[in-house]
Amino acid sequence: MFEGLSTRLSGILDRLKGRGALSEADVQEAMREVRRALLEADVALEVVRSFTDKVRDRAVGAEVLKSVTPGQMVVKIVHDTLVDTLGTDGVAIDLVAVPPVPIMMVGLQGSGKTTTTAKIAKRLFEKQKKKVLMASLDTRRPAAMEQLASLGKQIGVDTLPIVTGQSPVQIARRAIEAGRLGGYDVVMLDTAGRTHVDEAMMMEVAEVERAAKPHETLLVVDSLTGQDAVNVARSFTGRVNVTGVVLTRVDGDGRGGAALSMRAVTGKPIKLLGTGEKMDGLEDFHPSRVANRILG
Ligand code: GDP
Repeated sequence: MFEGLSTRLSGILDRLKGRGALSEADVQEAMREVRRALLEADVALEVVRSFTDKVRDRAVGAEVLKSVTPGQMVVKIVHDTLVDTLGTDGVAIDLVAVPPVPIMMVGLQGSGKTTTTAKIAKRLFEKQKKKVLMASLDTRRPAAMEQLASLGKQIGVDTLPIVTGQSPVQIARRAIEAGRLGGYDVVMLDTAGRTHVDEAMMMEVAEVERAAKPHETLLVVDSLTGQDAVNVARSFTGRVNVTGVVLTRVDGDGRGGAALSMRAVTGKPIKLLGTGEKMDGLEDFHPSRVANRILG
């Protein structure tokens, strides 16, 4: 992950670091290169712009050119701006509420939503000893409901029994009721996605939100979808109260631009990273670690 961006940026910044005095033209040139590296890594255009503007402002403010080690100062400013843009360190899933705590999962079909729901349930159950109930609200795709049930069996986490003919809101209410009666700590609601953002999906997700009043709403986005991921994120954050983002397929994301874009566009913390198809392919997100990796 981040190898592509990392090699480009560290190359540019290494060249700067090695130099004694820098001219304003040197800094301009370096910023152009940083911009190019970010664009190649599929960082959203608007994020690239605001990022390089911020670095430039800070560099001017810090009077880089007059300092003894201007190259190193620029490198530090780029690093700090990356960390700022990527967000706060290790924001955990918030479970501080009256149980059963409802967690709603939203995202497009194929983003890895069902897999991620099960991965999170496994982690809450195994590491935090929480009693978790999972429910699929995908009434249009019976296969999706069965997929969640099968993952539940595999990881030893209960799923709500499937009842046909119920609406997503009815299933959400039944899940929370079952959670209450069964003494569960957490109820995870895996909402239905579509292959593209559409009004029917958004209305459905908003209705479930009103009925279930989730304590956390996690948006699952495929990091490989690049600029499109940004549009998806913007659509969801405009309709429901997204409290965090999970970036999936980070294991296959050599360019690594999605993390930077996602945080900047949604303003929501990236809480977790999906790093594989297996149930333990889930990692915490640490901005400083990611920034270090990006800078090599
Ligand atoms: P949903 O339609 O959003 O519920 O997507 P699924 O959970 O069914 O996932 C779609 C495919 O992506 C499945 O084959 C998953 O195994 C795979 N997948 C999910 N998350 C990851 C991940 O982090 N890395 C990789 N490599 N594959 C993933």
